[in-house]
Amino acid sequence: MHKLHRLIPCLAAALLLLCGCGSKDASYTDFFAMDTSMRFTLYDNAGLAAKEEILRLEALLSRTKDDSLVSALNRGEAVEDTELAALLHKSLAYTAATDGAFDVTIAPVVSAWGFTGDSYRVPAADELAALLAQVGGEQISIHGDSVTLAEGAMIDLGGIAKGYASDRVAEIWAEAGVERGLAALGGNIYCRGTKTDGSLWRVSVQDPNDPAAYVGILSLSDAFAVTSGAYERNFTENGKFYHHIIDPATGYPADSGLTSVTVVSHNSGTLCDALSTACYVLGEEDALALWRKIGGFDLVLVTADGRVLITEGLEGSFDSSSAANPYVYEIIH
Ligand code: AMP
Ligand code: MG
Repeated sequence: MHKLHRLIPCLAAALLLLCGCGSKDASYTDFFAMDTSMRFTLYDNAGLAAKEEILRLEALLSRTKDDSLVSALNRGEAVEDTELAALLHKSLAYTAATDGAFDVTIAPVVSAWGFTGDSYRVPAADELAALLAQVGGEQISIHGDSVTLAEGAMIDLGGIAKGYASDRVAEIWAEAGVERGLAALGGNIYCRGTKTDGSLWRVSVQDPNDPAAYVGILSLSDAFAVTSGAYERNFTENGKFYHHIIDPATGYPADSGLTSVTVVSHNSGTLCDALSTACYVLGEEDALALWRKIGGFDLVLVTADGRVLITEGLEGSFDSSSAANPYVYEIIH
C-alpha cells in the first residue's frame, strides 16, 4: 500500500527518460527499492546483479528498516562496517565542502516534519531549535571502520544513498563488460555508452512546476545526472507549501529561490546526489560559487522566478528547443 502510494509520484520523478530509437532490443528490469521506482535498460542480462546490489545497499543503508546498519547506528549502537564508514567519510566531506548545506545528521529534523513516513506535520519553532542541537558533522565519530553517533543524533542517507548505489551499478556493469545501459534510480540516472544506434541517451529535466513537461533534454553518455526538487515529496498546510529538502541552518524546508537542481558528472553519482541536495539548499549564487570552486560537475538550476541556468560544460548537451514553456535560458561561464 505504502509502496504503491509512492510509485506514482516517483514514476514522474525528476529525470524522465525519453524512450525512442535505439531501444528496440532492450530488456528492462523494473523494481522498487530505496523508496523509489527503479529501471535498468540493458541489452544483455546484467540487470540481475545490479538489482541485487541495490537491494543489498538498501538493507544496509535504509533508515526505515529496523535491521539495517543505519537503524542500529540511529539506536545508539556502535557499528563496524568498511562501506558505511567510507560513505559517511564522503558525506562529511560534502558537509564541509557545502558549509553544512548537505548534512546527513539532519535526520531528527526530517523525522519531525514527518518526511520519514507519510504523516506530515509542521513542527513548532522551539521543537526544531532543540533538534538542531543534534545536527552537525561533529555528531558522527569514525575510527577505522567503527562508527558511532553522539547521543540523540541520527543519520538519514536519503540525500546520497541512491547516488552511491548508481556508482555501484556503474562498477558492476564495468566489471561485467556491459557496453551500454541506463539505470534510473528514481531521479538518479547513470547512463553507460550509447544507445544501440550510437546516439546519446536522452534524459529530460522535469519542469518543477509541471510534472507533464520538461525544461530541456540532456544528451549524455557515460554520465551521472541527479535532480533534487521540492516536488518530489511535500505537503501544504494552511496554504503554506512544505517540502523534504531541509536547510540545516534553520530546520525548515529550503527556501533558496531554486525549484530544481540537476547535477551532471562523468565521475561520480555520489557527488551528483550530495551536491544536488546541497545546491538546492544553497541557492543560485552559492551553488554557482561551489561549481566554480570545486569543478568536475555541471549544473542545471531552475529558479522560482522562471530562469534556467546551465553551466558551460553542458552547453552542447542541453537542448531546450522542444520544451514549450515560459522559461528564460542562460548559459553560465
Ligand atoms: P535528494 O532527493 O537527494 O535531494 O534528498 C532529499 C532527502 O535527503 C530527503 O528526503 C531527506 O531524507 C534527506 N535530506 C533532507 N535535507 C537534507 C540535507 N540538507 N542534507 C542531507 N540530506 C537531506
Ligand atoms: Mg541528493
